[in-house]
Amino acid sequence: MAEVLLLNSDYSPIRVVSWERAITMLLSEKVSLVAQYADRVIRSPSTTLPWPAVVMLKAYSKMQNRVRFNRANVMARDLFRCQYCGLAPKTREGRPQPGALTLDHVVPRAQSRDGTVVIQGRRFPLTGWENVVACCKDCNRKKAARTPEQAGMRLLAVPRRPSPWDAVRLAFGRAVIPNEWSDFLPGDDVVLRR
Ligand SMILES: [Zn+2]
Repeated sequence: MAEVLLLNSDYSPIRVVSWERAITMLLSEKVSLVAQYADRVIRSPSTTLPWPAVVMLKAYSKMQNRVRFNRANVMARDLFRCQYCGLAPKTREGRPQPGALTLDHVVPRAQSRDGTVVIQGRRFPLTGWENVVACCKDCNRKKAARTPEQAGMRLLAVPRRPSPWDAVRLAFGRAVIPNEWSDFLPGDDVVLRR
C-alpha cells in the first residue's frame, strides 16, 4: 500500500493520491506530513524521506472538495449498488464490482430536449449528479426510456452531488485501508452520510 490520504487544512479527507504526487506536494511545501508508513522510507541518491501515509494541505482548498463527475465516482457515491433494486455485485474476493453495473439517466435522454432535466422544479444537466445513478442491467432494461414513475420503479435515494467522503470511499472499494489513515476517517455512519 503506497497511496496517500490527502486532507484539507481542516483535517477533512479530500481524496487519495499517489505517493509520487504526495512527495511533489511535500517538496513544494503545499502540504505537511501528518502520518507516515512506519515500515518504509523513500530513498533518492541524495536523501532518505519518510514514506507519507497522510498529508494535509497548508492552505484550505474549496476547489478540491468538489468530486469530479464520472462513472467511477457515481459508483462510489451509490455504494456500488443498483439504486432501484439494491443489487450490489461483488467479485469472488468480495470486493464491489462496478463493472457489473450500468449508469442510468433517471429522467431518460429521450425526454430531454436541451440536455437538461427538471427535477422537483429545479433544472439540472441531463448527465450530471442529480440525474445519473448506478443501475443493474436488469433494472436498466426494465426501466428503458421511462422515468421511474412511468416504469413503476422507486429510487433508493435521491441522487445528489457527493461529498468528499464518497471520493475517499472509492479508494476503499479497491484497496485495503491502511492503519495509518484510521485516525482521519470517520465511522461508518458518517461515511454513509450524504
Ligand atoms: Zn437493479
